[in-house]
Amino acid sequence: MKKFFEKKKLDYKFAKAGSGHTLGETPPQQQGPAQPSPPRERHVPTQAGQLAGTAALARLDSQPSGGACKPKLKNTTMYKEMEAEAKQIEEVKQKLRQQHSQEQQEVTLVTSHNLSVNLICPLCHHVLPYHEMNQHLTVCLQQEYHKEPLSGSVNMIHTLCRDLDKKGACIDIICKYLNNLIENSTEEKYRKIRMSNKTFQEKVASVNGAILFLEAVGFAQQSLPHQDGEEQFLVIPEATAKDTQTLETCKELLETSQALVPSLDRNAKLFKPSSKATHFDLPNDFYKLKVEEIKKEMKARSEAVEKELQLRTKKMRERDEMKMTVRHYRFVLLRIKFLDGIILQGVFKPLETIFDIRQFVTSSLEREECPFSLSAYSKSLDDESMSIAQSGLAPASVINLAWSTPDLVPKPPYFKMDLLQTLAELT
Ligand SMILES: [Zn+2]
Repeated sequence: MKKFFEKKKLDYKFAKAGSGHTLGETPPQQQGPAQPSPPRERHVPTQAGQLAGTAALARLDSQPSGGACKPKLKNTTMYKEMEAEAKQIEEVKQKLRQQHSQEQQEVTLVTSHNLSVNLICPLCHHVLPYHEMNQHLTVCLQQEYHKEPLSGSVNMIHTLCRDLDKKGACIDIICKYLNNLIENSTEEKYRKIRMSNKTFQEKVASVNGAILFLEAVGFAQQSLPHQDGEEQFLVIPEATAKDTQTLETCKELLETSQALVPSLDRNAKLFKPSSKATHFDLPNDFYKLKVEEIKKEMKARSEAVEKELQLRTKKMRERDEMKMTVRHYRFVLLRIKFLDGIILQGVFKPLETIFDIRQFVTSSLEREECPFSLSAYSKSLDDESMSIAQSGLAPASVINLAWSTPDLVPKPPYFKMDLLQTLAELT
């Protein structure tokens, strides 16, 4: 009998369904819920998958506590029930795996250089590849400075310094210089800044555009006697310093300006119906981390999710999902598939919303008034305020479009002429 029981235990995968023990052992008072062992290669389960997982755990939880393996309950009916339960759990886990691998198959990601992500310069509106924009902006801002020294230098400080703390400290110190001048315009000591001063060197001079801003305000570099020798100073003439109103305006401009942000070129393209719609060639620019790092993090996280499955709320999981997406991906490639198979492709940022996708579609249509609905992975994308990251569409997805009003269905080709000219085969 004991042998039979042991064998059954193996057959029923008791080890997975709950903590097993041999006959004669005192069963635990409270049998904890089974923790499905995380499949090794599994990624983060989908929302639906996580719910299914929770349901499976709940089912297991609802078993009579500790009774499952009591020798006195070793009647056939109980074992059959246990077998069925264990089988059910295995099935759910299997489904989770399948569901995930199906989603993985649905979208194939390939790293390539076929697609370039382009940004639009906020100053000159030139379209440039993503990785060339920083260098371009530096040159463009220098040109702006030569035309408009004040706004040019302010834009340089705000745009070129990526370290927010460093930028903040620099602006604070410059404002302190200006405040001192405004409040004590006749005092000579406030009209001079010794350039070798440690704080000035570390916190002001090191920020691109800061010295240029002081020069735009009216300071000029000058060599002056200092202690036993001469030192370089920034000096503002008394007459300029007395114009407190202009100083106030300059200070306000520095304090209230913001970094110039290049806008994303959607790079709208049309493709003929293709079986390759779900095959995405994403350039490296899409990833903030290296693909290997993402995989590693997703694996670690998937294991953590399994453990925390019961403790974390849906909202918490969604928030984490979004944070992770934003941390991993710079851009999202979306393909909107029309009923006749035609594909409209555009590049987005993870924090753009469903509303932005809808805007993109609407602006591509010849008849902008035709209402439509969007869905992806069998879920409707009707919450316009939801971010692309939250919707699980990153880094690439196919979205299905359906016309929502039968009387207002446009005839193909649906698109504006300039877009129609981009129609090509997906390769
Ligand atoms: Zn430019």
